[in-house]
Amino acid sequence: MTDDAALHSPEARRAGAVLTIDLDAIAANWRLFANQARTSGATAGAVVKASSYGLDATHAAPALHLAGCETFFVATISEGIELREILGAITDATPAIHVFNGLMDGAERDFVEHGLTPVLNTLGDVDAWRAFCIGYGKALACDLHIDTGMSRLGLDARELAQIIDGAERLSGLKLDLTISHLASAEDADDPQNAYQLGRFQGALAHLPGGRASLANSSGAFLGPEYHFDVLRPGAALYGVNPTPGAPNPMAQVLRLQGKILQIRTIDTPQGVGYGSTHQAAAGARIATLSVGYADGYPRSLSNAGHVYFGEHRASIVGRVSMDLITVDITDIPEALARPGMLADLIGPLNPVDAVAAEAGTIGYELLTQLGSRYHRIYTGGGYAS
Ligand SMILES: *Cc1c(COP(=O)(O)O)cnc(C)c1O
Repeated sequence: MTDDAALHSPEARRAGAVLTIDLDAIAANWRLFANQARTSGATAGAVVKASSYGLDATHAAPALHLAGCETFFVATISEGIELREILGAITDATPAIHVFNGLMDGAERDFVEHGLTPVLNTLGDVDAWRAFCIGYGKALACDLHIDTGMSRLGLDARELAQIIDGAERLSGLKLDLTISHLASAEDADDPQNAYQLGRFQGALAHLPGGRASLANSSGAFLGPEYHFDVLRPGAALYGVNPTPGAPNPMAQVLRLQGKILQIRTIDTPQGVGYGSTHQAAAGARIATLSVGYADGYPRSLSNAGHVYFGEHRASIVGRVSMDLITVDITDIPEALARPGMLADLIGPLNPVDAVAAEAGTIGYELLTQLGSRYHRIYTGGGYAS
């Protein structure tokens, strides 16, 4: 996946670690959702909030659009404005951009100027958007978010009842998507999925037409009845397993390789790293790699994480520090571990989910914390669907 020349560019040589992101894999992952959607008459969107979960929307969003994606979701207005610029540079069309976090007081005009669709999360949002549409003289597109059991964003049951009883509240605005969000979709056996599905169907039965959207990455795998009109996959596009406990159906997207700065062989047993939380035995070989928690490499991997030299696994020993980690390479063939060589911190044998599990977190958090000091290489992506 990594182009060898790219790994030896001056930038890569200067960097302590190289992050390679495979845009073809992102496109392939989106197509998997698009095909899944097609079988139930739906379409697939793509969630690119937090700059494509830390992988950089500047690269990921065009790759998704070229793969055929016409519907994007972001969290904030600023992300929407940035995405409109990114997409504007590659197409004359205007793919839809939906903003999950909705209206902010006084920001209505931003949505019109940049062609963004607000997700209305409260009655206040609905009334404000309606008032704005009336003033603007045009029914402008918006989405409506129904809380079906997550207690986060969206209209609760009482607010929904008020909308249903006073249908004129929705007159004068153009309802595009009615959405809800699943709280436990990654666990197919959780009864909350069916409960939320039932509540969503109940709400839709009382609302004016338009399209509906319920499923995130994992939700899409719960079955066609969860698909409605638009899928909203995010994490799985970037390689996170949407079906934990079962093999990952997604292509791996990223590889993070950290560089060996120095290797020492221990003569007399001694501590490794801050706090001497690991004692190296005489004869042990310790490699110091140029990555740390300032790069988003979790400190919780102290004495817990693993890296790979080729197919050989090595343990992180001692604490992860700001710019460095220390790895026990006593059992690693010397030809694979010399100063200047790279180890897989995230790679084919230790994918995002595995590293996240060792760190006591989830792939989502690991991705969105990926640091800014890595030399980033983007491969693929330059094709049409
Ligand atoms: C982030 C988000 C998604 C995408 O979820 P994934 O689990 O990353 O697929 C979908 N819908 C909403 C409302 C979200 O906030």
